[in-house]
Amino acid sequence: MARSKTQFQKGLSDVEFQEIYGTEEQCRNAVFRLRWPDGFRCPACGGTRHCRTGPNKRLFQCTDCRRQTSLTAGTIFDNTKLPLTTWFRAMHLVTRGKHGISSLELGRCLGVSQNAAHRILQKLMQVMHERERDGRHRIGGFLSAVQMDDAYLGGEHNGGKRGRGAAGKTPFVAVVETGLDGRPQRTLLQVVSGFKKTEVETMCRNAIEPGTVAVSDGLSCFRGCGSGGLFHIPITTGGGRASTKTATFSWVNTVLANVKNSLLGTHRWFSRKHAPRYLAQFQWRFNRRFNLKEILTRLAYAAVRTPPMPAHLLKMAESRW
Ligand SMILES: [Zn+2]
Repeated sequence: MARSKTQFQKGLSDVEFQEIYGTEEQCRNAVFRLRWPDGFRCPACGGTRHCRTGPNKRLFQCTDCRRQTSLTAGTIFDNTKLPLTTWFRAMHLVTRGKHGISSLELGRCLGVSQNAAHRILQKLMQVMHERERDGRHRIGGFLSAVQMDDAYLGGEHNGGKRGRGAAGKTPFVAVVETGLDGRPQRTLLQVVSGFKKTEVETMCRNAIEPGTVAVSDGLSCFRGCGSGGLFHIPITTGGGRASTKTATFSWVNTVLANVKNSLLGTHRWFSRKHAPRYLAQFQWRFNRRFNLKEILTRLAYAAVRTPPMPAHLLKMAESRW
């Protein structure tokens, strides 16, 4: 079997990471460059003239409106008591593995409590979630096709009545885009309130290029593909789930298996309320797997553009079970 370029590419090594982000000053400079690539800009009035003030000259004071702002104010790092070196190490650990990292392991690696690690992880997942749901990156398009399947988090994919008897499980739709070579490109993992035509239709309109060829099995909710603007090909190859496990669905099945392994292997506990963020972080990492060298920078770039996690979400995330 040919070695996959994606699978064997080199990410940022620990040594390289330490050289680039080893000190607080390096991390502060990195945040500054990512947040204000053209130099300081006041978040209140947009002014660029400023002076440094406060303890260790860590605050930026706008000359025009006098507003003081810190490097991390208004970002996902807002009000953090942890050094930025801890945050960068966390981002390095979160992005480097295919399956992510558990809060237990993250806590051990960072030397912080598991609760602190859990909060870090939830905030970074929030960054990925907002990034993946901002509607700027539609999947599919003229030269690609998508495979779709329905699945549950927190329960078996197979067995039981579909769309029924799934109490306590979170239904979601998995979409995998394939290129002209038939290889998987990007994925979309969307939590739905149920396997309903309207849910699939909304998902298609929001996140998939109109006119994309979409292949699914015959489950009735996928009729929403057609009304959602896609060119839908339902494949009904006789009864039973097994019959749909054909090459037509091989990639979406592979991705679903990976989601499940990742969940079992890394995030041993799982709660329904984390489902959207959990799926978004899987999707975020999958869709950026072609460039592992840049993946940490991309997460940091998104982090400084993500507003502080809303209190209700953070509170929800903190009550772990
Ligand atoms: Zn200002």
